Amino acid sequence: MLLQFGAIKSIIIITIQSNEGVKPVTLLEKLLAIDEIPFRKDCPLAPLSTFHIGGNADFAVFPKTVEQLLIALRLCRKENVPYFLVGNGSNLLFPDEGLCGAVLFTKGMNAVADEPDGFFAESGVGLPVLSRRAATRGLSGLEFACGIPGTVGGAVYMNAGAHGGEMADVIVETAYYDAKTDTCGKLLGPEHAFGYRTSVFTTHPEMIILGAHIRLQSGDPNAIRQRISENLALRRQKQPIGEAGAGSAFKRPAKGSAAELIDACGLKGLSVGGATVSEKHAGFIVNRGGATAKDVVELMKKIRETVFAKTGILLEPEIRIFGKI
Ligand SMILES: Cc1cc2nc3c(=O)[nH]c(=O)nc-3n(C[C@H](O)[C@H](O)[C@H](O)COP(=O)(O)OP(=O)(O)OC[C@H]3O[C@@H](n4cnc5c(N)ncnc54)[C@H](O)[C@@H]3O)c2cc1C
Repeated sequence: MLLQFGAIKSIIIITIQSNEGVKPVTLLEKLLAIDEIPFRKDCPLAPLSTFHIGGNADFAVFPKTVEQLLIALRLCRKENVPYFLVGNGSNLLFPDEGLCGAVLFTKGMNAVADEPDGFFAESGVGLPVLSRRAATRGLSGLEFACGIPGTVGGAVYMNAGAHGGEMADVIVETAYYDAKTDTCGKLLGPEHAFGYRTSVFTTHPEMIILGAHIRLQSGDPNAIRQRISENLALRRQKQPIGEAGAGSAFKRPAKGSAAELIDACGLKGLSVGGATVSEKHAGFIVNRGGATAKDVVELMKKIRETVFAKTGILLEPEIRIFGKI
């Protein structure tokens, strides 16, 4: 069901008396079953991230609607079960030991409503889907997003960007749930505090993105499609598309690019275990098979140390690392 601002219904939480000795996740399991929210116990996380790395989660929850996500979040909150939000898992690293608690995957929340000059998209909608849909409607502004394999939620959180565009250019309003106060709200324009690969959400983990209004400009559908094709061609030419990874491992430093610095330090092809600095794009770390989260973190450490020793520039990770590694 599509969430519209102001239409979030209050949810009645089913209370089960807490039995001593019963783990919170066991309670969560019962409660999720009552609400028919899809979930898996002891779920392997590796296939659920583009890095293909990570152990098992106690619980993986796959809400199909915003209402189901809110029920799951409120249950976790009530039962003190730690939870983690994941969109497409294209910018994160799951720990080898897996995660205790619940990992909430938003991809099933993928309703989109056309608006005169854009969309309202639930947080699980894929950016490439939205970019193509905008082109078909003759709406310009999302051409930059055609090759970013993330969801609206992950992209707003990260202020994802490419080819001179970023989410900050198109997001006008975001609906969120605040787990601290157990309330829903909306953010307008500057309240998102967008920065380079940051937003208000990166510093407020209690704020969960439910959906966003995206505003675009009218344009010629053929010209829009042409820009999309050019952007995708550029990616195929420069990036290790098709290899397991999570995009740029490091943020762009104040001067130049992380890829240029890593390349200039001669680090292309450097490996730790199954994790390797891509020979095609030095900013990407790829999993050539069997890489562990520890391999990736160790490789990132080596890259940072070498680049710092040779240039004095300390690279900041862009990949979100979940749990303790
Ligand atoms: C081949 C490849 C190319 C890429 N190219 C680019 C690029 O050009 N530009 C770019 O910016 N990025 C790029 N990325 C990285 C990634 O795709 C983006 O950062 C994307 O926006 C992440 O979206 P996601 O849904 O996968 O988020 P996830 O990786 O699932 O999550 C990222 C962060 O967002 C949080 N999050 C996710 N959903 C929510 C929510 N609903 N509420 C609150 N927090 C949430 C997560 O907890 C996590 O901290 C690339 C990745 C790959 C694999």
